[in-house]
Amino acid sequence: MANPPDAVPAGPPVVSPGELLRRLRQRHPADPVTHVERVPPRVGAPAPWPSWAPEELRAAYARRGVVTPWQHQVEAAGLAYDRQHVVVATGTASGKSLAYQLPALATLLADPRATVLYLAPTKALAADQLRAVAALEIEGVRPACYDGDTPRAEREWIRRHSRFVLTNPDMLHHGILPGHAQWSGFLRRLAYVVVDECHVYRGVFGSHVAHVLRRLRRQCARYGRAAGPTFVLASATSGDPAAAAGRLTGLPVTAVTEDTSPRAGVTFALWEPPLLPAASSAAGPTPTPRREPSSRMAQADRRVTSGQPEPFPGAPSSSGEPAAGSDLTQVRRSALRETADLLADTVAAGVRTLAFVRSRRGAEVVATSARRSLDEAVPGLGDRVAAYRAGYLREERRELERALLHGDLLGLASTNALELGVDLIGLDAVVICGYPGTRASLWQQAGRAGRSGQEALAVLVARDDPLDTYLVHHPEAVFGAPVEATVLDPANTYVLGPQLACAAAEAPLTAADLELFGDGAKETVAALVEAGALRQRPTGWYWRHRERPAVDLRGEGGAPVCVVEAATGRLLGTVDGGSAHFLLHSGAVYLHQGVSYVVDSLDLDDGCALVHPEEPDWSTHARDVTSLSVVSVRSYVDAGPVGLFLGEVDVTSQVVSYQRRRIATGEVIDTRPLDLPARELRTVAVWFTLSPESLIAAGVDPAEVPGALHAAEHAAIGLLPLVATCDRWDIGGLSTAVHPDTEAPTVFVYDGHPGGAGFAERAYGMAASWLRATRDAIAECGCEAGCPSCVQSPKCGNGNNPLSKPDAIRVLDVVLTNLPE
Ligand SMILES: [Zn+2]
Ligand SMILES: [Zn+2]
Repeated sequence: MANPPDAVPAGPPVVSPGELLRRLRQRHPADPVTHVERVPPRVGAPAPWPSWAPEELRAAYARRGVVTPWQHQVEAAGLAYDRQHVVVATGTASGKSLAYQLPALATLLADPRATVLYLAPTKALAADQLRAVAALEIEGVRPACYDGDTPRAEREWIRRHSRFVLTNPDMLHHGILPGHAQWSGFLRRLAYVVVDECHVYRGVFGSHVAHVLRRLRRQCARYGRAAGPTFVLASATSGDPAAAAGRLTGLPVTAVTEDTSPRAGVTFALWEPPLLPAASSAAGPTPTPRREPSSRMAQADRRVTSGQPEPFPGAPSSSGEPAAGSDLTQVRRSALRETADLLADTVAAGVRTLAFVRSRRGAEVVATSARRSLDEAVPGLGDRVAAYRAGYLREERRELERALLHGDLLGLASTNALELGVDLIGLDAVVICGYPGTRASLWQQAGRAGRSGQEALAVLVARDDPLDTYLVHHPEAVFGAPVEATVLDPANTYVLGPQLACAAAEAPLTAADLELFGDGAKETVAALVEAGALRQRPTGWYWRHRERPAVDLRGEGGAPVCVVEAATGRLLGTVDGGSAHFLLHSGAVYLHQGVSYVVDSLDLDDGCALVHPEEPDWSTHARDVTSLSVVSVRSYVDAGPVGLFLGEVDVTSQVVSYQRRRIATGEVIDTRPLDLPARELRTVAVWFTLSPESLIAAGVDPAEVPGALHAAEHAAIGLLPLVATCDRWDIGGLSTAVHPDTEAPTVFVYDGHPGGAGFAERAYGMAASWLRATRDAIAECGCEAGCPSCVQSPKCGNGNNPLSKPDAIRVLDVVLTNLPE
């Protein structure tokens, strides 16, 4: 909404952004700033209220401080009012909610029977929207949240009387659709479905949600809503919002992308931490945290040398943080330390600053370190810096927000907890430690800076990661037109099967329904019949069981494994099935909220690992053997000496042993065998091959081919999030100097999710841009022999060995010269 923030302290910032940046740069002998972008302030472009907007609604908005809407709001609202499906993809705080509230509420006023369903990815966001809609005080709408927290006693009232129901996809899937008969009246009269923050629905989760929306459309049609509800989606800015929204809903969607809301100017600096003097990097591995722990480590990248798998292609470390760095050479100052210094410096200058750090522990480290250096300068000054994270009680969070807005507190280090639904804007500076993964998140975080009329400073500090390296050297990728797209793959049979089972359990499937569920639905239904889940009758396909199918929209990789403290029986948490082999094998050191445990035993049948608290001075690193075979080729490009392919592959991996390493030095203590079953993953991969002759012609010594391909593979995995919103941990890879299926030097990059999630497919479609960026990230890193900012990977199974940085550039040059743009 275009309202001004309500609590902004008076007075201009103490120093201008330009002056502040000059001071920050001054401390460094070598300038760490690679680019400064002056993003100019934007004057809003208002538009008159559309003629169909009732006076009552205009007055309600006026009471809330919205006198005239912006052009993009009116454009999107008009399309939606005309019953066209529309996605609004504009910046943070550009007033996307008005674009869907206006047509929805106008329709509710005009038709006293019509209803609206609003979907948010989180309960908190739905609660925020409820407050916003309720505050308009439109009579007869009776907005209400319907989610897991809604008391039973209120549910029936909501189903019968609310005309604006706010919920989330999980509740729609688990509660509303299975109980559709109770919702028949609501569904028959459903005029609009609002899908807020729709860019969150990506990958496997997004593919599930796409089918939940199809199931919703099906039930609306069954209850007599022939035309179907109109979908209004709100998205962060992204590469192709109309296509993504179209895939999500299965409907043609028009995009409104021009942001006409006003915006404060921001001076945006890209900051690359300096290389450390050679002596300190030669001192050996340093246990500095350099990546975030991830629960999704099941598919680490693997490399197999020519024909002969290495004995111990490794796995992610069980501790997730320091130890994983042991394989890596630290050649740059860490982004956390840079961020802590920047926070201390801006606070010392009296500037209210928010530092965004990816992990909870990282935020604590940044705050502690900034406090310490401030106290050294002026005793007591450190008290004006704090850490903020999810997990604090609501009152504690509110208190911190208040203290920051009123200037009692000057610096805050935060995880992304602030991102959704909390109104904390109007700061003087924002420091972003590491690219947050998507442009939407980057701008959301940068957007916290800048009070009206005042220019603010934003600094992106590159982490040790090839994508970050690329971005600080390619400002056009940060400030130009976005290329990163939200991808999902509704045709994934591992999603389609369970979703068709849910649909059949809700009501027998008909041939017409199969059209709705799209590609592969016919085959998948046949497979479900074969498996005994469905029975085919003349009237359709029937779910055969009493209980509904158990399908979790967000879960995958098998049933989760419980981590239980043996002495007390206390449940510490769960680890997804795919990662359990790596993280919870017997003898593994397992960190839970900063406390160290050692695993006594892992029982895969019971889905349970028993642990005891213990803090040994070693970390553990599971190692596995992985092989990959090509099942089928979906599409390929024949580019002379280079081939580019998209297809299905089987990846087999088995955790076979683990290493124990000294935390302080990274020294390997021993390697112990494990007896765990192999796991299979059928998924989608993109791969490229090169002829051995072309490599020789490019000057790659045959002995360097494995290291060249391996280095290119690591960087390519790191750069994939540039073209498709995914996490580096969603992706696996394997490279080999000769693969039995391709009979050539090959680099594979695959989706780490059964059936694929759309990432490899997008990489195939964008191969030239993706591999060009990969090449540039390697070439532009200032290190000599390769480092975590270019070709080393924190999740490498082979100890980042062999790697050849110069030859990786040659390999990618051969690919790029031959591949059509
Ligand atoms: Zn490097
Ligand atoms: Zn590797």
